Amino acid sequence: MLRIIVGLALTVVAGAIAGRRMFWLYRLGRTGQPAPERVAALREHPGRGAQTQVTEVIGQRKLLQWSVPGLAHAFTFWGFIVLLLTIIEAYGALFSKHFAIAAIGTWAWVGFIEDLFAVAVLAGIITFTVIRLTSDPKKEGRKSRFAGSHTGAAWLVLLGIFLVVATLLIYRGAQINTGDFPYPHGAFASEIVGHWLHPLGAANKGIETTFILLQLAVILAFGVFVTYSKHLHIAIAPVNVLFSRRPNGLGPLQPMRSNGKVLDFEEADPDEDVFGIGKVEDLSWKAMLDLATCTECGRCQSQCPAWATGKPLSPKMIILELRDHAFAKAPYLLAGSDEAREALPASAKAEAARPIVGDEESRGVIHPDELWSCTNCGACVEECPVDIEHIDHITGMRRHQVLVESAFPVEAGTMLRNLENKGDPWGMGASKRTDWIGELDFEVPVVEGAIGADVEYLFWVGCAGALEDRAKKTTKAIAQLLHAAGVSFAVLGPAETCTGDPARRIGNEFVFSMLAQQNIETLTEAGARKIVASCPHCFNTIAREYPQLGGDYEVIHHTQLLAQLVADGKIKPVTPIGERVTYHDPCFLGRHNRVFTPPREIMEQVPGLRAQEMHRCKERGFCCGAGGARMWMEERIGKRINTERIDEALGTDPDTISTGCPYCLVMLGDAVAAKKAAGEAKESLEVVDVAQLLIRSVQQSAMAGAPAEPAGAAEASPDSSDQA
Ligand code: SF4
Ligand code: SF4
Repeated sequence: MLRIIVGLALTVVAGAIAGRRMFWLYRLGRTGQPAPERVAALREHPGRGAQTQVTEVIGQRKLLQWSVPGLAHAFTFWGFIVLLLTIIEAYGALFSKHFAIAAIGTWAWVGFIEDLFAVAVLAGIITFTVIRLTSDPKKEGRKSRFAGSHTGAAWLVLLGIFLVVATLLIYRGAQINTGDFPYPHGAFASEIVGHWLHPLGAANKGIETTFILLQLAVILAFGVFVTYSKHLHIAIAPVNVLFSRRPNGLGPLQPMRSNGKVLDFEEADPDEDVFGIGKVEDLSWKAMLDLATCTECGRCQSQCPAWATGKPLSPKMIILELRDHAFAKAPYLLAGSDEAREALPASAKAEAARPIVGDEESRGVIHPDELWSCTNCGACVEECPVDIEHIDHITGMRRHQVLVESAFPVEAGTMLRNLENKGDPWGMGASKRTDWIGELDFEVPVVEGAIGADVEYLFWVGCAGALEDRAKKTTKAIAQLLHAAGVSFAVLGPAETCTGDPARRIGNEFVFSMLAQQNIETLTEAGARKIVASCPHCFNTIAREYPQLGGDYEVIHHTQLLAQLVADGKIKPVTPIGERVTYHDPCFLGRHNRVFTPPREIMEQVPGLRAQEMHRCKERGFCCGAGGARMWMEERIGKRINTERIDEALGTDPDTISTGCPYCLVMLGDAVAAKKAAGEAKESLEVVDVAQLLIRSVQQSAMAGAPAEPAGAAEASPDSSDQA
């Protein structure tokens, strides 16, 4: 009877506290904006939701990418699922000393599995303890992924988990001695503890009762603590994963929404509509769920190029700062009426008045230097084990700063004005877009009206590809290779304008939609079907963002097309290039769009070329520093990101650094030039596009191992076409 009364009393009290907290969190989440698109996506693809639960939650896919901490977490997670059986048994033992779960409760292998996972959980928390001790932010500073996390709560949780397992094994050991244990054998760890307790004789009766109650008390206290700490993720991570956008939070940005509907700039009402994230309640409920789900593991922070180079931005801290602010503002948000808000203490009102973005003086939640340091590289989203969508939140705040506050780095203003007035970020104008064609010795058709029926691909050249000297070399190499392979293509020439990517990434959705609509109109008039893009930013925007505005095309990146042409034997790299080459993955080609293999396949086919991967490559590739419109902003804080990347590349002792993006080409080229000037890189070191490497090998005139002028008109001879 004592067991029943104490056990149930503890359950009722803990249930009431945890339930009250969960209801408070639910009400807070409801103050966010609606997100009907998330519910609709789940309804439309229920199988996808189920699949992510299996792979991400039960399978722990992302966590297992970090082998040691991943395995430790997986053991702990799977252990707690199995140990649900032992919780049922502990509750059952309140009512009947000989309780056993129906049907399976006396099977020896069930007892074995329970003990196996109890031991696995212990191994998991020992591993976590070692990880936390060896990566202590007090010693490691910014290098520790736990820098900025609430480490005290993490230690409490480790202690809590240890107590859950310890009390479990002790009461089971005592049960073996009292004859109340349901399993005849198999529960090896409980049997060892039982052996230790055996000399205590009749005292085992008392130990059994005490530790059953302690086991329930620890579990219930842990359950309450979870609702008040970062370990809330245990309860809500599956929900967050379920409603995350798929395939993931990378690739396209989402359209601006107000009250759940896509914002129409022509009909928008500045007094009624929400323009980006200007206050915490402008976040959608899904974004609020993101905040509550963060485990503070710091995986995102450890991969962030801004954080790695000493800038104030950490994707983890963005989430934690917003979460702390949302919790502190909760009394205001949940007050229910103006009178109730007026009656709040001054500290609550002061918290409510904080701007979401602002410097120390204005007590902003997020400092502008944090907000504008983001390159949109996606490393944080890629790493986050609970599918938090950092880029969406950063973009939401940028949108409000640009569209409502007109507050953004001044140097980016020129780029935005150029986009509006001239259609390219440099303001060079449409007439310059075809200059590169004159440097070739064959005709490149420029579309006038509709694309001819004999033209297979529309070659989307992009602003950099048409106007920036280094990127123009890539453009010419691609054109030569397509021509040599007999692929029919045409370009839009002066009718092409910027896709709008830099405007969208900086937060100017208005300029983005203006440019995007103009391009979609042009593409529709031209009857474009298949598009090959040389810039991953254009590729991402046209393929994955234009469908939001009704523009649906089949878009591929030039490395995909060239790899296919090489595989089909239409392009034959024959001249050896005896160089060591390291390939830099452009974020918007690789991580955002999962194109990792084609550039590498091209390099593999070049005779003599020795590819050497950098440590940070493919999904873990490190940004060049240009994305997120950072190309048009000064980099005043910390080490330059492109220098950090080149330092890593130099570690492979390359003759050439290759890539597949004009932004990367420029950023890495600048860093290499600076290294050469400082005498830290050899004079012959080059940064080139994979297409430039390929054409060197296709051109018989190129000397083995010698860098050739890649796209000179004189070299694009009919002979080279034949050989291809
Ligand atoms: S997108 Fe890249 S730069 Fe921006 S916060 Fe994430 S990791 Fe850092
Ligand atoms: S945002 Fe994700 S990766 Fe970053 S600390 Fe939180 S849970 Fe970890």
